[in-house]
Amino acid sequence: MDKIQITQPSITQLEIDYVNDAVTNGWGAKCYDYIYKFQDAFSNYIGSDYCLATSSCTGAIHLGLMALGIKEGDEVIVPESTWIASVEPVMYIGAKPVFVDVLKDTWCIDPKKIEEAITPKTKAIIVVHLYGNVCEMDEIMGIAKRHDLKVLEDSAEGLGSEYRGKKCGAIGDCGVFSFHGTKTMTTGEGGMLVTNNKEIYEKVSVLNDHGRNPKDPENKTFWMRDYGYKYKMANINAALGLAQISRMDELVEKKRLIFNWYKEELSGNEGIQLNEEQEYAFNSYWMPTIVFLKPLNINRELLFSKFQSENIDSRPFFLPLSSLPMFDSVKENKISYQIGYNGINLPSHHALKKSEIAAICDVLRKFILTN
Ligand SMILES: *Cc1c(COP(=O)(O)O)cnc(C)c1O
Repeated sequence: MDKIQITQPSITQLEIDYVNDAVTNGWGAKCYDYIYKFQDAFSNYIGSDYCLATSSCTGAIHLGLMALGIKEGDEVIVPESTWIASVEPVMYIGAKPVFVDVLKDTWCIDPKKIEEAITPKTKAIIVVHLYGNVCEMDEIMGIAKRHDLKVLEDSAEGLGSEYRGKKCGAIGDCGVFSFHGTKTMTTGEGGMLVTNNKEIYEKVSVLNDHGRNPKDPENKTFWMRDYGYKYKMANINAALGLAQISRMDELVEKKRLIFNWYKEELSGNEGIQLNEEQEYAFNSYWMPTIVFLKPLNINRELLFSKFQSENIDSRPFFLPLSSLPMFDSVKENKISYQIGYNGINLPSHHALKKSEIAAICDVLRKFILTN
């Protein structure tokens, strides 16, 4: 039996046709066509006014923070539980990440603890819709408004998720997405920044073009007032993205089906917490995840080797970021420190069959009974 992969993209003839067309014809006068079409289709899907395609989500976060005016020495509030890429751009700028604990039920940043972490130096909050779970956006936007802070929504894992009927990524000052090959849709590597704020859009557009501003009165082809960055997406990648975004409803539906298969299989197992959606949320379930609650006393490393021997791929929950050597640990972030060592991600790629999920859950249940 082939190994059951944790993630892999869903590629159909449509993706192959678009990429073939881009690589064959998408040059010269047509070298941006798929980029524009992809950005338009993405705007439509998310319901945001402006979209900028980038070569990665990490790059999009960097551009977003710059456009929000984050500078060296500023404090940026970030969740303790997330992928390192949510925080690295804060370091690029020389700003300081302030790690805040997550909630026990959503594993997303705790609004009350955001408020406690605010100081006169705080300028922005990065929220992360972890594994497709949805942050409490009304509370967070309210806090941001009261304290005059910017909000960047890292929706790399939340593409297709919704907060009270609004797509994640379209609620904060700006939102970012990832199209890395492990994510719900892919462009190979790639990202997107979305915003409803024209000023932010113009800033990120200039920063992403080496600082060239088409509106600058002194602008000539190779003239720029300041240096910038280059995180552009290639036309070939955008062709893949256009095909994928046109299939988003189907892709999200399958992710939800897979999650529900897990939920059925694991129902009644005390001590296992799944990332179920809250009443305010529509969860696109990028990655079905379980956390073993304390009484089970599971040895996660043993479980990984068991899965390995059964040819099943799995992954640990993100470790608390402040536990990494380059940061000062914030042990008070108790929930992140608890789930970071007791959670695992389960396979969820689009080609999975119900029988495979049943087999995965069989291994899991037997392991719990005998350990
Ligand atoms: C994947 C991911 C990113 C980074 O995306 P890249 O496209 O690989 O740069 C950022 N934040 C989160 C939460 C992610 O899961």
